[in-house]
Amino acid sequence: MAPDPGLEGMVDGLSESGALRSPSVRAALLAVDRARFVPGDALDAYRDAPVVLQLGPGGEATSTISQPTMVVLMLEELAMQPGDRVLEVGTASGWNAALLAHLVGVDGLVVTIEIDESLSEAAGERLSEVANVWRLVGDGRDGWPEAAPYDGIIITAGAREVAPAWREQLAVGGRLVVPITGSDGTGLCITYERVDGELVERASTPCVFVPLR
Ligand code: SAH
Repeated sequence: MAPDPGLEGMVDGLSESGALRSPSVRAALLAVDRARFVPGDALDAYRDAPVVLQLGPGGEATSTISQPTMVVLMLEELAMQPGDRVLEVGTASGWNAALLAHLVGVDGLVVTIEIDESLSEAAGERLSEVANVWRLVGDGRDGWPEAAPYDGIIITAGAREVAPAWREQLAVGGRLVVPITGSDGTGLCITYERVDGELVERASTPCVFVPLR
């Protein structure tokens, strides 16, 4: 296995592969150390791989900290700006929520929803110094209308379809980035833009995520 590249090595690798393009996402990756979000003494903090956080009864992964390449591709698609409001479904480690908080800044807001209370609480400890993240426990399919409309909605677990609440809670001109898992198990991460009341597909790329529960 390749040696751990370190934080700057991870970021350089993401630039060289072409996944990382914008200075703002680069700055967020350097400011939010992924190692703080990888549990225990995992040596894999800067490798381009997901790390399992929780296993289900059948031994399947029910929560992971996502692969850096996928996180970066999704953040580039979401294109958040300072002052934006963003909804994340699937808090897990909290790494992506912290990256989003860096991107939207103190004038923005991150609402992150996790269905598993223990995972949400552990993420809360890691996010304790991040001011602009609201952490909620619940089913992210319902979104959170109280802070809508959102400039961006990012789903970090595989969905079968776009939940109506995501479309309804997205601002006109806002972006929804969602991994859609087909009936054959293949995944496609799709970017939609809301144009009036409709979602228009703007981009898609193959991906694999743990399923929504
Ligand atoms: N964004 C995370 C990775 C998400 S892994 C990170 O940066 O580390 C997917 C997460 O989605 C898991 O923790 C899982 O428990 C959660 N999840 C699954 N179904 C959900 C649902 N219906 N609502 C909210 N969270 C859900």
